Amino acid sequence: MSDYYEILGVRRDASAEEIKKAYRKLARQLHPDVNAGDDAEARFKEVSRAYDVLSNPERRQVYDMGGDPSASGGGGFGPGFGFSDIFESFFGAAAGGGARGPAPRQRRGQDALVRIEVHLNEATFGGQRELQLDTAVVCPTCEGSCCRPGTQPRTCEVCKGRGQIQRVARSFLGQVMTQQACAACQGFGSVISDPCVECSGEGRVRTRRSLTVKIPPGVDTGTRIQLTGQGEVGPAGGPPGDLYVEVVEQPHPLFTRRGDDLHVTVELPMTAAALGTTIEIESLDGPQQIDIKPGTQSRELVTLRGLGVAHLRGAGRRGDLVIHLVVMTPTVLDGEQEKLLRELATLRGEERPSGRLTPTHPGMFSKLRDRFAGK
Ligand SMILES: [Zn+2]
Ligand SMILES: [Zn+2]
Repeated sequence: MSDYYEILGVRRDASAEEIKKAYRKLARQLHPDVNAGDDAEARFKEVSRAYDVLSNPERRQVYDMGGDPSASGGGGFGPGFGFSDIFESFFGAAAGGGARGPAPRQRRGQDALVRIEVHLNEATFGGQRELQLDTAVVCPTCEGSCCRPGTQPRTCEVCKGRGQIQRVARSFLGQVMTQQACAACQGFGSVISDPCVECSGEGRVRTRRSLTVKIPPGVDTGTRIQLTGQGEVGPAGGPPGDLYVEVVEQPHPLFTRRGDDLHVTVELPMTAAALGTTIEIESLDGPQQIDIKPGTQSRELVTLRGLGVAHLRGAGRRGDLVIHLVVMTPTVLDGEQEKLLRELATLRGEERPSGRLTPTHPGMFSKLRDRFAGK
């Protein structure tokens, strides 16, 4: 008895899917319709027999236990067994089963993707952009018919308009009917003998089109704006695909975006931080007054609510503008300034600071972590 697993080239524990794949591959190579080799027919028969057994869980079990299921009458290879049944169940070649009509010339056009660079202002407030787009549009001469104006496609004589031709192959399997796309008309069922000159019978022409894109407030890098039906027109003037406009946000020199919040750093002179003051900063919404309370420390945050980036589809709601305060120590002192600072130090008893230890501010760690994470 032959080793069916060996014949199919699969392991003994191969799954049903692996067995199916192995058979499909071998059958393609060995089918008498494609392989005229002397032993191809015999091997095809062998392979089909192996598959017939191993593809059936009951028969496979009998075989695994040392029996020969193809020798036993019922369910095995009876006289009426046709290899082509197996073959056709794979390749859908049976005539009459699943006969398709001619293929439509018109097909939907492809989607297109373009990227636009957006500045923080546009991301925050939305905007509009003029785009130049290389795309395909319906051919203005033939209006998508692909034919020279005044002419029409004629029915294909080879397939009589069916788009498919049936082929009868005789082999030891008996008659095998196969269907394939008609080569004379590429399966369309009709032939254009007088194609439109402008589009070479494509029904569409390449062109550069301009288009206005609305940028909604709140977009970010990676946001895709879908413009339905603004992609390219399909073959034979088929319906257009969609256009996707993908946003790439340009980094702002001052404001760092994190989600919909903006972060910025403001440097405060040491004296202002100690005494308190009012400063004016420039935000995306114009100048803002900020009160600095006396005794302000480095790393303190001032949050201006609603002055960040809009939430996408957030009905006008916006993130915050977070100001990180940094107290600046003077680096250059003239004689009088140094004298005053020394007097101040004496008054405050700070000529010899203690070097007292305090725990590190937890915020420092998250900042470091963010830096390493590339945020
Ligand atoms: Zn045309
Ligand atoms: Zn044809």
